[in-house]
Amino acid sequence: MLEKVLMTTLILASLAAFALRSRDLVGFLGLGEPDDRIPRNWSRKLKDQLVVVFGQRKLLQWSIPGVMHFFIFWGFVILFTTIVEAFGAVYQEGFHLPLIGTWGPLGALQDGFVVAVLVGIGMAFTIRKIQRPGRFRGSHLREADYILFAIAGIMLTILFTRAAEISLGHFPYDTRWTPVSNTFAQLFEGMSLQTREAIDTVFSWWHSLIILAFLVYITYSKHLHIITSGFNVLFTSERPKGALKPMHLDIEQMSEDDTFGAATVSDLTWKQLLDTFTCTECGRCQSQCPAWNTGKPLSPKLLIMDLRDQLFERGPQLLKAKRESDEAFQTALAELPALNPEVVEDEVIWDCTTCGACVQACPVNIEHIDTIVDMRRNLVMGESRFPREMQSALQSLETTGNPWGQPHQARLEWMKGSSRQEALEIPHISEAPDAEVLFWVGCAGAFDDRNKKVVYDFARLMQIAGVKFAVLGPDESCTGDPARRMGAEYIYQMLAEQNIEALNEHKPKKIVTICPHCFNTIFNEYPQFGGVFDVVHHTEYLAELVKEGRLKPTASMEKTVTYHDPCYNARHNDVWKGAREVIEAIPGTEYEELHRHKHSTFCCGAGGGRMWMEERMGKKVNMERTDEALASASDTLAVGCPFCNIMLSDGVTERHADSEMAVRDIAQLLLESIEFHPESSAGGNGEEYPATKETEEMSGTAAGPTDPQTTD
Ligand code: SF4
Ligand code: SF4
Repeated sequence: MLEKVLMTTLILASLAAFALRSRDLVGFLGLGEPDDRIPRNWSRKLKDQLVVVFGQRKLLQWSIPGVMHFFIFWGFVILFTTIVEAFGAVYQEGFHLPLIGTWGPLGALQDGFVVAVLVGIGMAFTIRKIQRPGRFRGSHLREADYILFAIAGIMLTILFTRAAEISLGHFPYDTRWTPVSNTFAQLFEGMSLQTREAIDTVFSWWHSLIILAFLVYITYSKHLHIITSGFNVLFTSERPKGALKPMHLDIEQMSEDDTFGAATVSDLTWKQLLDTFTCTECGRCQSQCPAWNTGKPLSPKLLIMDLRDQLFERGPQLLKAKRESDEAFQTALAELPALNPEVVEDEVIWDCTTCGACVQACPVNIEHIDTIVDMRRNLVMGESRFPREMQSALQSLETTGNPWGQPHQARLEWMKGSSRQEALEIPHISEAPDAEVLFWVGCAGAFDDRNKKVVYDFARLMQIAGVKFAVLGPDESCTGDPARRMGAEYIYQMLAEQNIEALNEHKPKKIVTICPHCFNTIFNEYPQFGGVFDVVHHTEYLAELVKEGRLKPTASMEKTVTYHDPCYNARHNDVWKGAREVIEAIPGTEYEELHRHKHSTFCCGAGGGRMWMEERMGKKVNMERTDEALASASDTLAVGCPFCNIMLSDGVTERHADSEMAVRDIAQLLLESIEFHPESSAGGNGEEYPATKETEEMSGTAAGPTDPQTTD
């Protein structure tokens, strides 16, 4: 009787502590801004639960740690039945679950998973203590050790309790199904009944006490993810992967007192706060982050942990003030430290290239980029505090509609070609309303010398294929991608509205662009402002033209080619097939993948507006990627993005490797094989575009206020 009273008291105390802490945690979420995350696409949500939560797909992408976690996760699911059995046994000898409680296969599963979890714990300790991967740098390792010991304790006490029950004859399962427990039961042979009963009592109590302590402890630890992961996956954004969190902005009504983005922890949305609860500190994001991997202070993991620390530190005071009065709450909110630089250093926020590697790697679907951009929005629009070199790019975007600061009319200059090429005559869309395709040139294509060649060659390919196409010319502006990702949402929205208006006026059947950033913005973000267009990236379009037989590569190239996937194609939009199909269609090419490719590609360093920022710390991201490409046995590095083209060409030149490796856009390679002429194949990386005087004046390579970052 005493035993039952004591156990009941402990269970109630543990549940009460769990409930009180859970109430506070839910209260902390309530401190955040609203965010409409009502699930709408239920089939996708169901799939996510089955694949990400129960199938552990993202974890299993890393085989050894994935299998380790799979064992422990499924062990917890299956062994929940043994926990119920253990507590039930306190109240009733020989207790078993109704209906399934004596079913042999369940006993076998329990036995199997006890072993699997112990193997998983052994693997976890091996990884943490012997392998010691860098991804754990900054994680709470001691806390993880306690949890692993606790889980090991739960498993061993299950085994000994089951073994004792077998030897006492009140084990609910047929022991032929439970060979492991049965083997352990041999240990008790020859012991007196009293000893075996005592062992049973000690281990079942030990087991129950660990469980009750564990229940409370997880709500204060990183193992909170055991409870929140399923919810975090359920409330994952249904936006396309490449689309940033929309921001309501009434440009007419903006005032200095408005808060833009996230200035303090309470400016984060409840979902962003839930992200912080859910971080497992596994460091997968950190291990993939180009900034962290090149020695910068940004680690997506540490950023999320810092935000969680801030919430846990300030949350209790805020909740207390909220319960007192509205006035007290407002005072407590006003006393919150600024997220930047008090909680997260400014440098950390500006290091991000928005490559998406962290979001992709995260096993619990944490959305780091939205949080980083929200902090940038505050710094740019609220504080006017950002790297000084961004200033000229932002000013140019606002005044001339492109970060190069060039006049609108200069958008047509690329059509003149080099001094050895014929000028192209491509109509404005208003002169060709029946055009099959609107060629969206993009700012880098229009103003950067190297990319003017790409744009010219792509236009030639469309002419050869007989595609009826047109351009917007001076009516095209920057899509706003760099402005949005730098945090200047008001400039982005201004540009987006202008472009959507121009596009809606001409209603193009299909838009083709050579720039993954333009593609992503028009395809994924313009719908947030009512602009829905059929957009395709030129690598996919060229692959289609080749398949249809409209383009026939015939000249043998004798090149060993590798391809650098742009993040905004491969990772954000799953666009990676076309480029490979085009390369494979070119006779005489031998293709070799880079080590990091497709969804696992490594950033060139230009995304997230980083093109217009200096890299002051660590190794330059473009050099890291260039070194990877140079280490391959290829002589040609194919690209599908004007920014990657600039960054990697500069990288190859900086390594003095122009004679070893040529950087070429997919369109240039294809044209070489179709219509060989010296202009399209000659020259090293970063060669001078043989431009007219006018184009030289416009050139982004001329020293000027809007020079993008270079690698020298
Ligand atoms: S988006 Fe890329 S650069 Fe930014 S934190 Fe994530 S991994 Fe790092
Ligand atoms: S954010 Fe995701 S990937 Fe990064 S440490 Fe946390 S759980 Fe792991």
